[in-house]
Amino acid sequence: MVKKRNTREISVRNIKIGNNRPIVIQSMAATKTTDTKRTIAQINALDKAGAGIVRLAIDSKKDCEALAIIRDKTKVPLSADLQENYRLVKDIAPYIDKVRYNPGHLHHHEKTKSIKSKVGFIAEIAEKNNLAIRVGVNCGSVDPILRDRFSDDVEAMVESANQHCQILEEIGFTNYLVSLKDSDFDKVIRANKLFHSIWPNVPLHLGVTEAGMPPEGIIKTRIAFEQLIPQGIGDTIRVSLTLPFEEKKDEIKAGQEILNDINSGRFRSVPTLLNNKTNIISCPSCSRVENEVFVDLAKDVKKLVKNIEKELTIAVMGCRVNGPGETDDADIGLWCGPSGVNLKMKKKLIGHFSYDEILSKVETIIKNY
Ligand code: SF4
Repeated sequence: MVKKRNTREISVRNIKIGNNRPIVIQSMAATKTTDTKRTIAQINALDKAGAGIVRLAIDSKKDCEALAIIRDKTKVPLSADLQENYRLVKDIAPYIDKVRYNPGHLHHHEKTKSIKSKVGFIAEIAEKNNLAIRVGVNCGSVDPILRDRFSDDVEAMVESANQHCQILEEIGFTNYLVSLKDSDFDKVIRANKLFHSIWPNVPLHLGVTEAGMPPEGIIKTRIAFEQLIPQGIGDTIRVSLTLPFEEKKDEIKAGQEILNDINSGRFRSVPTLLNNKTNIISCPSCSRVENEVFVDLAKDVKKLVKNIEKELTIAVMGCRVNGPGETDDADIGLWCGPSGVNLKMKKKLIGHFSYDEILSKVETIIKNY
């Protein structure tokens, strides 16, 4: 039995979220935003597959220009993903319906300005343009001050979300929702339960970030959703999977299947299916991916460890934006650049290797591990 969701209702253009409305499934374009032809094709394919909202990354003025063209040729509500350059929201507001910012990334630009004034800027633009906001907290890029203050990542994530909810509420902006993501489904479950106990009326977007490739990525996500959605937690969802561009719509299909199963009382998550001792975390890729061979690299790493009986976490990330931080906790971390891959063990950088060399380097490390 799925509990009623008592969150307040928010609007993303014509879509109502929260207040026990049907859960909305989202995805994100993995194409370069400036490659308008491919991005329009990707967004429309996701729309056709059943996506309620599609997100795309906006990092530059060129992305903003591309967005105007993309908006013209797509119908589904669009969400823009901002990183450090939060002021871009002003340029893109007419072409989007929702903006996502990461509290951890608001620390990097304009260091003399307070976080409150930066959030105030985003909220003012959102208010004027009828946009919704997602406060998107990620464990790997959590607010650096809170990371130092808390020994538990989950508490740091929840406190970050808590502070941003307080700022938005003080400003009087209520058309927002929150996400608390990690690649570890246990942390996702704990963080969302804890946040929901503090802010029961704020809608939540659920997801296990960098869940990896199917089927493992789907299983990890399913485990989290099965623990949260029946408790009345979760108003929108995303199943983040490392997939080639043409298969991105499979994220929507996976989300639909999980929701159908939960709604019909079929609980299928079988953690033992994740029986390979080696856990591979890989990002779903987005416009920021530095080289499209990233997806092949993630697949090759998976093949490499197929029969390895070592308890290891290997992270494969597509870019320099989240790659360095999101690989810090992995035993072996790879984050991609345009022509090569940075190889780490925990926080220590081992070296930078070409795409041809990297697999043999990883293999050697694993053998000696
Ligand atoms: S790690 Fe980089 S390429 Fe991968 S999803 Fe995150 S921002 Fe996009």
